[in-house]
Amino acid sequence: MQNTLTTGAVCAMLDHRRLRASFRCKMTSHRLLIASAAIGAAIMVQTRLEGLPGIAAGARKHVLAWADVRNGYQHDSISHAVATIERLGRQSGAYDTFIRTDSQLITKRPITFPPETGIARGESFNARNLDYFDAIFFFGVREIDLSSEQRADLLSFVKEDGKGFVAAHSAATAFFSWPEFGEMLGGRFDEHPWNVIDGTVVVDDPAFPAMRHLPRSKVFHDELYQIKDFSRDKIRVLAHLDASRLDLTRPLVHRKDGDFPAAWAKSYGKGRVFYSILGHDADDWDNPALSTMYFEAIRWALGLVDADASPSGSRRH
Ligand SMILES: [Zn+2]
Repeated sequence: MQNTLTTGAVCAMLDHRRLRASFRCKMTSHRLLIASAAIGAAIMVQTRLEGLPGIAAGARKHVLAWADVRNGYQHDSISHAVATIERLGRQSGAYDTFIRTDSQLITKRPITFPPETGIARGESFNARNLDYFDAIFFFGVREIDLSSEQRADLLSFVKEDGKGFVAAHSAATAFFSWPEFGEMLGGRFDEHPWNVIDGTVVVDDPAFPAMRHLPRSKVFHDELYQIKDFSRDKIRVLAHLDASRLDLTRPLVHRKDGDFPAAWAKSYGKGRVFYSILGHDADDWDNPALSTMYFEAIRWALGLVDADASPSGSRRH
């Protein structure tokens, strides 16, 4: 009986690790010693495969989580946001994430180090530039120090290379001095007149991957941004704030027509861009409604799933 139970436990464990096919599970007791060794091996494999659906590393996409906040307000949520993005990519097997809080990798030049630094004597030292990545998840803020060449490389990463750019919350405050960035993103931050409140987000495009999991309308407790410099002729508004539930008499409300996008998608050249105003607090990223939105947006931006990103035009819900 003991052996039977143990054998069952062995098989359950092996099955859990997707290795069951490698072993016969109707083992006799004298084979348990062999099984024990197999468990040890399986545990070692488990260490590497925990949560992974078995997609080989070479088949997974590469996402650069870029959160350079040196010149602006660092949201408390940023560390948890990029950690969440990393976890969702890892667990799904869709992508691997490099997390960087500097902008060194925003370049297509080979990344090298100067001689006598003790790092790599001027050689490339396992440093990946933009060419390695398939999409960027951006949670930066304000004016980030980039050279003109870095700026050109970032734009062409999306526009010419056809890669993805998914941006969260304070990303809309970035690079106000750089018009082309605003054109790529599709809109700019214009204050948060209501600060952190319960806001009703209404889904405009329930067919879009990043919206499919959401009900027609949903309340998010978040710092609600007002967006300016956007055109529905250039972006596809996926969701908006229900203006009827907002105090439009607040001093910083500039958008008198009540048009407050909460999430949008757009094409930029050959590439795909997504932005949402949501994600101010760290706890927000524990809300599956929010984290799934960004995860599915990344999958779309990576080209793992297709969707209509044509501009909304004058249509408003
Ligand atoms: Zn915020």
